[in-house]
Amino acid sequence: MDAIQQTQIPVLDLSPEIDLLWDEINAAIQRVLRSGHFIMGAEVKAFETQFAAYLGVKHAVGMNSGTDALVIGLRALGVGAGDEVITTPFSFFATAEAVSIIGATPVFVDIDPRTYNLDAGQIEAKITERTKAIMPVHLYGQSADMDVIMELAGKYGLKVLEDTAQAFSGEYRGRKLGTIGDAGAFSFFPSKNLGAYGDAGMFVTDDDDVATMARMLRVHGSLKKYHNEVVGYNSRMDTMQAAILGVKLPHVDGWSEARRAAAKRYNDLLGDIPGLTLPYEAPEARHVYHQFTVRIPDRLRDTVQARLAEAGVSTMVYYPVPIHQLPIYQDWDYDLPEAESAAGAVISLPIWPQITPEIQERVAGALRAALG
Ligand SMILES: *Cc1c(COP(=O)(O)O)cnc(C)c1O
Repeated sequence: MDAIQQTQIPVLDLSPEIDLLWDEINAAIQRVLRSGHFIMGAEVKAFETQFAAYLGVKHAVGMNSGTDALVIGLRALGVGAGDEVITTPFSFFATAEAVSIIGATPVFVDIDPRTYNLDAGQIEAKITERTKAIMPVHLYGQSADMDVIMELAGKYGLKVLEDTAQAFSGEYRGRKLGTIGDAGAFSFFPSKNLGAYGDAGMFVTDDDDVATMARMLRVHGSLKKYHNEVVGYNSRMDTMQAAILGVKLPHVDGWSEARRAAAKRYNDLLGDIPGLTLPYEAPEARHVYHQFTVRIPDRLRDTVQARLAEAGVSTMVYYPVPIHQLPIYQDWDYDLPEAESAAGAVISLPIWPQITPEIQERVAGALRAALG
């Protein structure tokens, strides 16, 4: 057996990227160490400017995490206690948590089983007098149906905050995700397509007042130190993370292309397996494959995952419990069959920009055997 046959295949391998950028990242870290400035400062400003320029937005506000970008973003957009926010039940918990933590109520709409994103056709029926915003998630790196969402937002005067944690550099009809709604929230959790080496996040908007409020909320509700105006947060961005992210950002377009090429290779390798559902890429979306998520037929998912693990192939399930069935929301009695069905059927295969054809062939072979 050669090395690749023996080693456990991880779901994500960050080491090729660290090897590639080793010298630059070390130089950035040393620069910050020498500066003696570890929170916010010029490095964070420079990264905000670089990030805003990449997306073509007016304001980028660095935060401590993607979760904080959602929480602060909602508040900056004027969402508060008693309001309702329409969102998806099939996401990381932080999406709904951000709504609840500010005293608003997440209202879940079922998903489109092809894209796993919220089914825009079901949103209008959930709009009430209290609805203040729609918060789509661009799950796995693919855009939600933004045309319908923006049209409804216009019709009912709602704000749109895009949870772009998994889809940095993804597009919808040629527009960068996170820039289509009123605002976008990004996560730089290490495993995201643009990942820091710690926690970090970003909030973006073209609206001057919303940006000012977000900047205020991230530093204890103050624009001027010790002149606190509202109750805010400590969500300042770590200087070291900003410096590291500044090194990585210019590589993201190439990495997204590489992810798309890896997805195509998986599609070629797996296309003939009966019953296996491959990712659907909507024609208006440029999917950046944060995850390559397939659907396993007939309640076999857990068995298949166990067989893959035995074959040395690590996989993940995003997400085994839809948010509306988590303990804190389960009494609300939602019936969202597509989200519930997806939670029992999806499995995400190893993917990262530098994944090799040999690794993908081994994953595909193991999946074929596990289903056989
Ligand atoms: C990762 C993630 C978040 C949270 O980001 P953190 O930086 O971990 O706080 C929010 N929403 C989605 C969809 C995510 O994938």
